[in-house]
Amino acid sequence: MKKILNNILKLVVVCGWVMNSFYVQAQTDQEKAREYQLQQEAFRKGLLFQQLDSAKLLMEETQYEAADKKFKYVLDNIKSVPSDLAFFFGKNSYLLGKYKQSIDWLTKYVQLKGTGGQHYTEAISVLQKAESAYLDSRKIESKQVEEVLSRNYDIDCGPGGKVVCPVCKGTTVIKKTGVFGESFKTCTYCNKHGLLSCEDYNKLIRGELQPQQKP
Ligand SMILES: [Zn+2]
Repeated sequence: MKKILNNILKLVVVCGWVMNSFYVQAQTDQEKAREYQLQQEAFRKGLLFQQLDSAKLLMEETQYEAADKKFKYVLDNIKSVPSDLAFFFGKNSYLLGKYKQSIDWLTKYVQLKGTGGQHYTEAISVLQKAESAYLDSRKIESKQVEEVLSRNYDIDCGPGGKVVCPVCKGTTVIKKTGVFGESFKTCTYCNKHGLLSCEDYNKLIRGELQPQQKP
C-alpha cells in the first residue's frame, strides 16, 4: 500500500513538473511572438520614415506631385502623424497650389511645436503665403480640389504629450467683443491649465471635444 501511495506521489510530482515546463514554454513563446511583433513594427516604421525622406527629397527637386503621393502614403500608413510630416506635407501642399490643405497642416505644425519648432519660421512664412493665396484663389475661381485634412488623422504630439490649447492659445481666457465692450470668459476646453492632452487635442481637431461644464 505504501509503495502504491509512493508511486502516486511520484506521478503527481512528475505531472506537475511536465505541466510547469509546458507553461514556461508557452510563456517564452508568447514573449518571442511579442518581440517579433515589436521588431516588425519598428521595421515598418523605418520603411515609412525612408518614404518620408524620399518625399522630402522629391519636394526639394520640385517634383511636388510625386512628393505628394509619397507623403499621402506615409500619412495613410503611419499610426500617428509626427509633427515633421505635418510641416513638410503642408509646405508641399502650398507648392502644389492646395492652399486650404496647406493652411490646415501648417497650422497644426505650429500648434504642436510652438515657436520652438525647428521649422517654425519657415512654417509661418509659408502659412502667410498660403493664406493670402487662398483668399485670392477664392476670388478668382471656385474649383473643387480634393483636400487631405489633418482631422482625419491621429496626430503625434511628441514626447511631452501636451499641446497648448488652440482655443484660448494657452491663456485659459477667451475674450469676446460685444456691444457693451469686451468680456472675458474662462476657456472651457483646457480646464484652467491652458494645455490639452494629446487625446483631447485630436478630439478637438475632429470637433469631438465637448467643452467641460462650468464649475
Ligand atoms: Zn483653453
